[in-house]
Amino acid sequence: MDEYSIGVDLGGTNLRAAAIDHTGRMLDKISGSTNFGEGREAVLSDIVSAISTLRQRCGSATLSGIGVGVPGFIRIQEGFITGSNNLPFLENYPVRDEISRRLGARVILENDANAAALGEQWIGAGKGVDNLVLLTLGTGIGGGIVVNGRILRGAVGMAGEFGHVTVVPNGNPCGCGNRGCLEKHASATAVAAMARLMQLGEDLTARDVFELARRHDEKGVKAREIWRIVGECLGIALATAINTFNFPLYLLSGGMLPAWEYFGPEMMRTVELRSFTYRATKAETRIAMATLGNEAGLYGAAYLPRAE
Ligand SMILES: [Zn+2]
Repeated sequence: MDEYSIGVDLGGTNLRAAAIDHTGRMLDKISGSTNFGEGREAVLSDIVSAISTLRQRCGSATLSGIGVGVPGFIRIQEGFITGSNNLPFLENYPVRDEISRRLGARVILENDANAAALGEQWIGAGKGVDNLVLLTLGTGIGGGIVVNGRILRGAVGMAGEFGHVTVVPNGNPCGCGNRGCLEKHASATAVAAMARLMQLGEDLTARDVFELARRHDEKGVKAREIWRIVGECLGIALATAINTFNFPLYLLSGGMLPAWEYFGPEMMRTVELRSFTYRATKAETRIAMATLGNEAGLYGAAYLPRAE
């Protein structure tokens, strides 16, 4: 009889769940949109029914555990979300215990970027590397730190919040209360905002700005300047992480990776300029693309019960 675990990734707009065996093979997967507008009860019952469905489909195989990744600041001991832009109605509510009660099974609640970092370490770009940092570049920027193969959670569960590290003193205001957070200057949302300010267009996505960067006209110059700024901000954050951890691997993931050719050179130049540790350990330090894409969070969430 096979053993498997279930990972859930509750994103900004969708809910995905997967049954994954101990070798990292995905046995089954459910992807659905969840209606966040309908509030807490709808989201909780969507999570519970996705897990129940997978359990039924896996038949007689043994469920070894359930991990749930959510965007937001987590209190790991209590299984609470204390701050989340996407899921305010789940704040300060016993999310983990309620899911666990309805399923009659143990559940681990984790920050989604932490779960993604663990997934990459398990079977992605970090396989075989025990110590790494992952930055997830999306509408916001998440961060996860893995030390000796385990997530570094800090005292409460809020470690690794690289998205809210200051990279521009007195920069753009952020929902967290700070100014100049990395995610206000280097996320897909920040790219779109800069494009608007530079009069490239009102409703451009980061992808559009990536396409514009190819052009040999004034718009191309502006678009490439946006990516240069993104690269500089990422470089400042990475230089800080490298100085702090001296890890062998720093991974970037998310929908903005194709633009690496435009933000990468400035990012690397900035890391080199600002981190002595990097300059001194160049041969042993890698900054690279993650490989699991948006599945990393699913793999990592499923791996949580094993990593405990
Ligand atoms: Zn912030």
